[in-house]
Amino acid sequence: MKGPLRDRVNRSLLGLALAAAALGSTVLASVSGVLVLQATLQEAEKHASTLERDLSASLTSFQPIYEVQRQLQLAASSRELRSALLFDRSGRVLAASDNALVGRNRRQLSSADGLGDLPQHLLPCLSAPAGQGFCQEERVTSLVDGPLPWIGGDHMIRALPTPLALEGLPAFGQQGLLVIEVDLQPLVGQAARLTGLVFLAGLLPLFFTAGGLVLVVRRQLLPELLSLAQTDGLSGVLNRRAFLETASQRLTRPGVGDQAWVVALIDIDHFKTINDTHGHAAGDEVIRRMADYLNAAVRRSDLVGRLGGDEFALLVGASAPQAYELLDRLRQRVASHPWTLADGREPRLSLSIGMVECGSSGRHQLGELLQAADAALYVAKDQGRNQVMDLERQHPKGWTMQLA
Ligand code: GH3
Ligand code: MG
Repeated sequence: MKGPLRDRVNRSLLGLALAAAALGSTVLASVSGVLVLQATLQEAEKHASTLERDLSASLTSFQPIYEVQRQLQLAASSRELRSALLFDRSGRVLAASDNALVGRNRRQLSSADGLGDLPQHLLPCLSAPAGQGFCQEERVTSLVDGPLPWIGGDHMIRALPTPLALEGLPAFGQQGLLVIEVDLQPLVGQAARLTGLVFLAGLLPLFFTAGGLVLVVRRQLLPELLSLAQTDGLSGVLNRRAFLETASQRLTRPGVGDQAWVVALIDIDHFKTINDTHGHAAGDEVIRRMADYLNAAVRRSDLVGRLGGDEFALLVGASAPQAYELLDRLRQRVASHPWTLADGREPRLSLSIGMVECGSSGRHQLGELLQAADAALYVAKDQGRNQVMDLERQHPKGWTMQLA
C-alpha cells in the first residue's frame, strides 16, 4: 500500500521515534547529571568541613600567626581550594593563602585581584558592627555560586566563625572568621562528562526501543489504519480523499506520459427513486453491490473510488476508445441484467457515465480532468441517461444544453 498518506505516516513515525529517543535520553542524562552533581557537592562539602575542622583546631592552639598562614597556603596548594582567608572581628585579614592579602581591610579587599566575587559575598558578614560578631554566629555559612548555580555552580564559599587563640594576637580569645572557597569546576566537569556519556549510552537503546515500537505499529496496525482511513465505509472502495490523492499521484508519476489514462465519473440514474421505492437499506445495498461490480470490471492497476452519494470515479489505464468500450459494456450489463437484492426485490438500474482522456485539450491535472468528466456526465444525464459520454469524440464542436 503506497501513497502520500503512508509516506506521511512513516515520516511522522520516524520523527516520533527520534524525538522519543532524544527526549528520553536527555531526561535520563539530566536526572543522572543532577544526582551526580548533588553527590559530588556533598562530597566537596565533607572535604571542606574536614579542612575547616583541621584549620580551626590550629586557630586555638596558641601558635604564631605565620604558622596559620603556612597552613592556609598548604591547604590551598594541596586541596581544591581557590583561596582561604582568616579575618579578625574588624574585618582585617589576619592570614590568607595569598600572602598579598594579609593585613588588608574590607574596603581594600573589594578591589583585590583574583578574589572574584568573594568579597561581595562576604560583605554582610564583615560589615557587622564591632562587637556583634559575624553574620551567622557559630554556624558555617555556605553558598554555591557560579555560572550554573542550579546544577551546582562552579565554586563554593564557606564562612566559619571561630574563636582565635593565637600567639601574638593582641586580643586573646576574640572571634575570627575563617573563609574558604572551594573550586567546584573539576566536579562540574566530571558531572558534565558523565551526563554526556549517559546521554549517548541512553540514545541508542532508546532509539532502538522506540524504533521497534514503530516497526510493530507499521507492520501490524498501520496497514489496518491506513486501509480504514482510505476506504469508503459503505462500499469498500477508495473514499473521495484517497481516490483524489492516489489518482493525482499516478498522473504526476515520472514517465506517465507513455501511458494513456481515462478519468470517468459514473452516476446511478434516478437513485433517489430506489431509496424512495425500496428504502434506504436497499439503496445502501445497491451502492455496495455497484462498487463490487465496478471493482470486478476493471483491472487491478485501475482505481475505483466513491466520491459521494451514488457517484463513483474511475481512473482507467487505457486510451479513450478502449475505455469507452469498457465503460459502455459495463453500462449495458447494468441495464440489461436484473439486480436481485437480499430481500428479493429487483430494482431497475442504469448508469450515466462521463469520461475524458488525460491530455485531451491539454488537460493533465486531475482537477481539470474531473471537471471535464463531470461536464460529460452532465450531458449524458441531459441526453436521456443510461449512456457513456466522451465530449471530445461525441461533441467535438461543443455541446448545447437541451431545453426540456
Ligand atoms: P440522477 O439520475 O440525476 O443522478 O438522479 P439521482 O436520484 O440519482 O440523484 P440525486 O442527486 O437527486 O439523488 C442522489 C440520492 O442519493 C440522494 C441521497 O439521499 C442518496 N444518497 C446519498 N448517499 C447515500 C447513501 O449512502 N445511501 C443511500 N441509501 N442513499 C444515499
Ligand atoms: Mg444519481
